[in-house]
Amino acid sequence: MAEEEETGKEYRWETGYEKTWEAIKEDEEGLLEGSVADIIQRAKRRRQADRRGNIRLGMMRHLYLIVDFSEAMSNQDLKPTRHLCSVKLLESFIDEFFDQNPISQLGIIITRNKRAEKITELAGNPRKHIKAVRQLAEATCSGEPSLQNALELSLRSLRLLPSHASREVLVIFGSLTTCDPGDITVTIESLKKQGVRCSVVGLAAEVHVCRRLSRETGGEFGVVLDDCHYRDQLFMHVEPPPAASCLESSLIKMGFPHHSAAEGKETPLTICMCHLDVPAAEAKGVSHSGAGYFCPQCCSRYCELPVECRACGLTLVSAPHLARSYHHLFPVENFVELEQNLDLHKQCYACQRSYGDHDKHVYECGRCSQVFCLDCDLFIHDTLHTCPGCATNQQTFHLMGSGDNGSSLSVNLI
Ligand SMILES: [Zn+2]
Ligand SMILES: [Zn+2]
Ligand SMILES: [Zn+2]
Ligand SMILES: [Zn+2]
Repeated sequence: MAEEEETGKEYRWETGYEKTWEAIKEDEEGLLEGSVADIIQRAKRRRQADRRGNIRLGMMRHLYLIVDFSEAMSNQDLKPTRHLCSVKLLESFIDEFFDQNPISQLGIIITRNKRAEKITELAGNPRKHIKAVRQLAEATCSGEPSLQNALELSLRSLRLLPSHASREVLVIFGSLTTCDPGDITVTIESLKKQGVRCSVVGLAAEVHVCRRLSRETGGEFGVVLDDCHYRDQLFMHVEPPPAASCLESSLIKMGFPHHSAAEGKETPLTICMCHLDVPAAEAKGVSHSGAGYFCPQCCSRYCELPVECRACGLTLVSAPHLARSYHHLFPVENFVELEQNLDLHKQCYACQRSYGDHDKHVYECGRCSQVFCLDCDLFIHDTLHTCPGCATNQQTFHLMGSGDNGSSLSVNLI
């Protein structure tokens, strides 16, 4: 790095960034505000624009995160280091992942010293993974990574999954080299055969083998520019990907346990299954009697949902978990951007705010023709997932969720 700077060719700040200041133009009164607001608006909406609806999605995801812990990760081009920046982002990624994909599972593998270590097994409990990631902040980055070993390790557990599960691998790769025991193209070939979708987020440069891995397996490949872009690249993988063609649609049996509170004699004294293997010292706070969720098939007790029953293998969920996955199947259509016109549009339909001069554009829902401000547009698409105009109108309300051709009501949750 230091050598590069001494050669005095080009500094990163001279070329690396988009020259945003050149896009800023003064308005008639010589003010800049409007132009800046415009840039921010466009950036916010860009992410929304490339979402597509009405395709089959892999909703029941099994994702392995492979994180590079080689010497290259102690590089300081991301602040404070690539290693700590990744740990920080992964924490929030895991949180967001389980929020959006409540019936999915995740596992973490790191690679250093030419080996791959499994940090957490595939499991659906965010707390366990976040705890593991926090501990990784203290881990040392050393040696060279082995992409092949890490991929083989993930493939070993993904191979056992049933055919309706969407299998995915997300690699965070900082190094420019990989030190493998065998031919990595064979590994890529078998990943492809198993229908494992591999995506790579590169931290340094485009590495041919990473590009090839993601292209062959139908994943995405990106190289980060700075920490904001890193966040975008990572969070792109929060949303469920389109289903692989080899993914089977099948009906799976699920249990909906009721929560039963402790009511003395009715509930027997039981130890919950989820804390069986926790050391006694840590399990002190756990109550050993009464309240919990009971598996409708075998009556084992669990503290929290969703979980796969350890005794009988039934997937236990609560209805709100399924409801949280629903909006991926029927996303709100993108609104049409209109030039603001104070004679036509007086106030936002959702928040009732009157439009002012700073509202350069307003946004119209194609279905109910109501007009919204930018803040409401973003909130509706990012968080609410329902158009308030359509939901309050009798005619459009019936159309909601039926898709354009009316046929997607038969969508299977896979
Ligand atoms: Zn059970
Ligand atoms: Zn428990
Ligand atoms: Zn509004
Ligand atoms: Zn609408």
